[in-house]
Amino acid sequence: AGCPHRGLFYNLNRLKVFVSGDIGCYTLGFLPPLSAMDACVCMGASIGMAHGMDKALGQEGLGKVVAVIGDSTFLHTGINSLINSVYNKGCSTVIILDNRITGMTGQQPNPASGTTIGYDPAPTIDIPELCRAIGVKHVRTVNPHELEATYQVLQEEIERPEVSVVIARFPCVLTVDEKKRRKYPFHTVVDNCTGCTMCLRLGCPAINWQPLTPEQAKAMGKKEKQKGYALINEDMCIGCGQCLSLCKFDAISKGEERA
Ligand code: SF4
Ligand code: SF4
Repeated sequence: AGCPHRGLFYNLNRLKVFVSGDIGCYTLGFLPPLSAMDACVCMGASIGMAHGMDKALGQEGLGKVVAVIGDSTFLHTGINSLINSVYNKGCSTVIILDNRITGMTGQQPNPASGTTIGYDPAPTIDIPELCRAIGVKHVRTVNPHELEATYQVLQEEIERPEVSVVIARFPCVLTVDEKKRRKYPFHTVVDNCTGCTMCLRLGCPAINWQPLTPEQAKAMGKKEKQKGYALINEDMCIGCGQCLSLCKFDAISKGEERA
């Protein structure tokens, strides 16, 4: 619960673009309900595949193809394909999922994290500056937990007829610093929940669907046709706020601080 990648993939699903994926924890973005990864071949392949598609499709592919790649994978084997895309005048959008960690293979730091594997201070690669040095003119950074702002930036960059980079930056919930961060878990105001299921589209494991029979719905003062309601498990929720921004019925509320 609280994974920053969830908000990014939620938005890619909304945009209905072809997502060329890569290897990492974020490969799980292919799973429903996010269902926002269409291809994944091998480590570092996402940017090259997207570039190949934009070259093959030409004008027809404009605004339809993005590559997603983690910060660690980008520095490992993705950067060379970005150089190639700029050099060969591609037009796909590259989204770097910068969660400040190498999530899938042990949560170790990487050259953009600022520490060595032993957590001693180390030189930090500035990913936005690195992309500009390669020749990418449009480099933007978003907080993927801010769903609407991220959507707007993605929409603008995907339409751009040249290579652009969007860096979705927020630390993984498993990093040492995030584990120490104060948590304000959210809770469901059950009386207000209409069962619209919008919050469930994030696939957050802290949000559970509670089915209702017509009799149960009526007994709770809801419309008989309401099929259920959402219930947040406050022990799992870390208060990322993504679900709050999707609920239009004031049925999700911020809770008290938890150690
Ligand atoms: S705030 Fe919502 S989306 Fe974020 S961890 Fe809690 S229940 Fe999940
Ligand atoms: S909590 Fe809000 S978004 Fe989630 S099902 Fe209920 S009304 Fe819909």
